[in-house]
Amino acid sequence: MRKRVVAVRRLHAAHLEQLKREFYVDHFPDLDAGNAARFREALYEAHGLIGGKLMVTPQMLDDAPNLEVIATISVGYDNFPVEEMTRRGILLCNTPDVLTETTADTGFALIMAAARRVPELDRFVRQGHWQMHIDEPHFGRDVHGKTLGLIGMGRIGAAVARRGALGFGMSVVYSNASPKPHLEAELGAQHCSLNELLECSDFVCVTVPLTNETRHLIGRDAFRRMQRSAILINIARGPVVEEGALIQALQEGWIAGAGLDVYEREPLAADSPLLQLPQVVALPHIGSATHETRAAMAQCAVDNLLHALRGERPPNSVNGNA
Ligand code: NAP
Repeated sequence: MRKRVVAVRRLHAAHLEQLKREFYVDHFPDLDAGNAARFREALYEAHGLIGGKLMVTPQMLDDAPNLEVIATISVGYDNFPVEEMTRRGILLCNTPDVLTETTADTGFALIMAAARRVPELDRFVRQGHWQMHIDEPHFGRDVHGKTLGLIGMGRIGAAVARRGALGFGMSVVYSNASPKPHLEAELGAQHCSLNELLECSDFVCVTVPLTNETRHLIGRDAFRRMQRSAILINIARGPVVEEGALIQALQEGWIAGAGLDVYEREPLAADSPLLQLPQVVALPHIGSATHETRAAMAQCAVDNLLHALRGERPPNSVNGNA
């Protein structure tokens, strides 16, 4: 029997063709009220679901009785009911590794942009304010030689740490569920408590996944511990940082700035107080958004799906024993 796959969001023609060679494919480049009923019908028949920015609830699983696998085009999987999927024997596959370096590039772009005030001074030039030589009010902060604190030292944290230590001569400290002796040997990184990290870092970069333990990990108390000259970078998930506390910390000068790729609610509202603050660099969740990396992530998800629906072990799965 030919299995059925539901593909959500835009996929390259080559990836769709690869799926169509083995499965019946229902493709939904966009999901909206207009095609919600057709999507539910397709999901009811589906053995596999593939796509990016999927938000899956237990209720959706009830409506998908044949589902064997979900292949998300992302490494993060906080938007899936993993325990419930495991209980029902549904595999969840993600796309680690292929996006690590690109997401670390995004993190470093934010470090540089926030420290050297790149967007703010770009606007200054464009708006015709560059009339005289630049003086102290427009100075930024050094990145090289400073202390980089990584909250989370997994794949992406380690890639940011390498850029800092090897490219910019930074001292690296990290807090993580488990120590990473190989990175300590490679980069001279030091494992420390979260509080120690917050107190000593010039740049605090968040790279932990969003879980029950990490939700609002960085709140008022954390900002109070940071140096007034410190800059917060978040390239993980918005809710790891308590946004109200971040806004207060920036408005009241507890910290010097922030470079953000992710937010508690996305898309970020145009009237967010964050956007009133010149010391904030705001990106629209583009951590992995390059042509090369998004294509590699989609291919990785397709490979995961193909293996799983053939009854083979997929290259990447979050709940491998489902
Ligand atoms: P990873 O390799 O699994 O790394 C996560 C690290 O966080 C691990 O080292 C883990 O510790 C640590 N950790 C987990 N829970 C913790 C806790 N409660 N306290 C302290 N440390 C904890 O994942 P990754 O590939 O680096 O990706 C990290 C996250 O980045 C993803 O989950 C995703 O949400 C986010 N992300 C965002 C974008 C974007 O577009 N902005 C792109 C890609 C990824 P152990 O090593 O001890 O397990």
